[in-house]
Amino acid sequence: MTDIHAAHTPVDLGGVLENTFAQLPETLFERVLPTPVSDPSLLALNQALASSLGLDADRLASVDGVSVLAGNALAKGSVPIATAYAGHQFGNWVPQLGDGRAIFIGERIDETGLRQEVQLKGAGRTAWSRGGDGRCALGPAIREYVLSEAMHALGVPTTRALAVLATGDMILRETLLPGAIVVRIARSHVRVGTFQYFTARGDLDTLRSLMTHVIDNHFVEAANAERPALALLDEVVKRQAELVAQWMSVGFIHGVMNTDNCCIVGDTIDYGPAAFMDEFNSHKVFSSIDVQGRYAWANQPQMAHWNLGNFAQCLLPLIDEDMEVAVPLAQQSVNAFADGYKSAWAHKLSAKLGLPDASAADLGHRYLGLLEEAGADFTQGFRALGDYTTAQSLFEQLIPEFDQWWTDRDAALRMADVSAEQARICMAAQNPVRIPRNHQVESVIQSALSGDMTPLQELVAALAHPYTDDESYSAYEQPPQITERVTHTYCGT
Ligand code: AMP
Ligand code: MG
Repeated sequence: MTDIHAAHTPVDLGGVLENTFAQLPETLFERVLPTPVSDPSLLALNQALASSLGLDADRLASVDGVSVLAGNALAKGSVPIATAYAGHQFGNWVPQLGDGRAIFIGERIDETGLRQEVQLKGAGRTAWSRGGDGRCALGPAIREYVLSEAMHALGVPTTRALAVLATGDMILRETLLPGAIVVRIARSHVRVGTFQYFTARGDLDTLRSLMTHVIDNHFVEAANAERPALALLDEVVKRQAELVAQWMSVGFIHGVMNTDNCCIVGDTIDYGPAAFMDEFNSHKVFSSIDVQGRYAWANQPQMAHWNLGNFAQCLLPLIDEDMEVAVPLAQQSVNAFADGYKSAWAHKLSAKLGLPDASAADLGHRYLGLLEEAGADFTQGFRALGDYTTAQSLFEQLIPEFDQWWTDRDAALRMADVSAEQARICMAAQNPVRIPRNHQVESVIQSALSGDMTPLQELVAALAHPYTDDESYSAYEQPPQITERVTHTYCGT
């Protein structure tokens, strides 16, 4: 133990941490302490999340609590570890990645009875750090905090953020930047890449333990299936299809859908270069390193499908010893992604137009075509559908086409026996009025860098109820002026 940890008695945060993951085979992780930082300060604390985890927000904000969140002290019950994983990055196989800058300090059972993992991202070097410093810069930590909480408020499955801290140390990137830690909460951090790591090493025993852990905690129904591994695959495929349909429906671009960033339980994870679109462009990419547009908005379903193919390969020996049996079963399971996604997306698109079930996918695609041709704002384009005049104002050059579409949509509503009022209610629950627009995210990061946290708090508050009209937050509804546009994001590593 580093002296600083030995010097502290474990801190009581109002509830002890558990460590079921640390009881799994030691091949899955390394035991490692966070590396202390010089002068930690709490920049943002998610009080509601703290209380849902049964943790005392006041204790978290106290000197001892901040020490725990910064990695300078341990919480009661904490057994810190860094987990192993591999992955395909932009399609290229990397046999060893792992938590190079994230330390998993323990688990809490939340108020709904779900186990939640607590991770300090930016807490120092581990066995998986390769050439990196194990640290995280303030900008990316704030981006993850804002985006993951916004996604949660939008109703999209995601990891969450409990806190952001400044470490008081500078870190070297292209320039010197203030170091930070984001405290991430996830029901599971197991990724496709976690399975791939053990497949690549031919370690079937660990693979089996990992699968059992995942099934017992997150896919209990698969345990009783004739082939649990196949049932797991079916359900992971289904959840990914639904997740990506949700991303698409709010104009979210993950940006780095590598297999190591594809979470088995179906939550959005790793907000490195992630961003939301303003003007609709189906080929939109933000990430500065995604030069080929591999993870463009429209490619996301295909990329998730590709990731699932890799997951299926890992499960083959657990599906059946005989590959002639296992391969076609796995193939069929992964192929179900196409229909699963098509159906999930059709439901989402229909609901965005106020129409039931999957009835209006064609109308939805036609509308997307109009938005794209007009270069209209994705979020406003859907929110405006409650009112003809507002919607029409988005399509100056395309009025006849838009009018025809509006007439056809009216006909579809009549056919489905949906009143205008019912459609409005449905649409208002599907089409957010506020999303974390990239220029606003960048702007609160810039304020935070100069020491002002108020804009961050305001943005987080504005995004907490994204489907509710609220005059006082109208500034957050606006797309950027041309001069305000922020078109690139960075991984932040
Ligand atoms: P990411 O781009 O955050 O998904 O990270 C890809 C891989 O690089 C993971 O194995 C990370 O743990 C590792 N990594 C990213 N940043 C750092 C860093 N500053 N120090 C050490 N490892 C890092
Ligand atoms: Mg990652």
